[in-house]
Amino acid sequence: MTTEPLFERLALIGFGLIGGSIARAARMRGVVGEIVATARSAKTRARVMELGIVDRVVDTNAEAADGADLVILCVPVGACGSVAQQIVPHLKPGAIVSDVGSVKGAVVRDIAPHLPAGVHFVPAHPVAGTEHSGPDSGFAELFINRWCILTPPDGTDAAAVDKLRAFWTAIGARVEIMTPKHHDLVLAITSHLPHLIAYTIVGTADELGEVTSSEVMKFSAGGFRDFTRIAASDPTMWRDVFLTNKDAVLEMLGTFNEDLSKLTRAMRRGDGEALFEHFTRTRAIRRGIVEIGQDSAAPDFGRLQTDAQKP
Ligand code: NAP
Repeated sequence: MTTEPLFERLALIGFGLIGGSIARAARMRGVVGEIVATARSAKTRARVMELGIVDRVVDTNAEAADGADLVILCVPVGACGSVAQQIVPHLKPGAIVSDVGSVKGAVVRDIAPHLPAGVHFVPAHPVAGTEHSGPDSGFAELFINRWCILTPPDGTDAAAVDKLRAFWTAIGARVEIMTPKHHDLVLAITSHLPHLIAYTIVGTADELGEVTSSEVMKFSAGGFRDFTRIAASDPTMWRDVFLTNKDAVLEMLGTFNEDLSKLTRAMRRGDGEALFEHFTRTRAIRRGIVEIGQDSAAPDFGRLQTDAQKP
């Protein structure tokens, strides 16, 4: 619990997995005085009201931004520009505007030109998520021990950056600062390309005639299952990611295809040494991720249990 709120009023524009998790975490930790939320559809707004985890639910983005000290856009990347235009006349002088978009170059390009002087723009990307979306999917612990990358444009007020850093730290995240371009390159390999591969492989398996879909499901624990979780991620969000981070993803895809060709050649030639050397190197990377606490080495027995086996 923080002793004093960091912000008097937090406005969340968009209330799905990320907006809903921020609301829950900020409330649990007492980081803000008041939380005002809105979402695009009346259905989501009604659900947010029912959940009772914010102080007020309003109908428009403009109303939400009005008088807020921190405004966080929690909408798909492709919607950030139009939301920014709607809120501009209502922003309080000195307010911090931020977002949570998975791509930063496009978000900076689409939001920054609309913001007036005296309003501080500090883009952010919490590198944390699940394959679920919508107002019920959020949870207060989502950001604990996860990285949140801030990409403030050159000349951003240092005090505003520090304040947003303090906000993310207070809700459990570790904060790092990068340029938008570097962020997009790093995330292209660590997140965007893996999602593209998962979407591809699950689609490929679905189209195989000689392996029935019931067999694909039945034997999915052989590796396929982990791809299906990633490939269940929100289609709107990921469409926007691939449209807005196209250059970096295509660059990584080029390198990936070259490496895939190398492994294919090793397999074709029966070059066991090359395969073994490659797999040894990748195993070390996995162990490194576990060592720095970004995943657990524990087997996920929970997911393997049938209902009958559960205690
Ligand atoms: P989500 O659960 O699908 O929620 C999206 C929210 O945005 C909903 O409240 C939705 O309103 C609203 N929205 C959708 N389209 C809109 C539009 N065109 N204009 C205005 N509002 C719109 O999505 P999320 O997973 O929270 O993702 C939100 C942002 O976080 C995205 O930019 C994504 O890149 C980023 N992000 C996601 C993850 C992840 O793992 N999911 C991780 C890190 C960052 P309705 O419900 O009324 O349609």
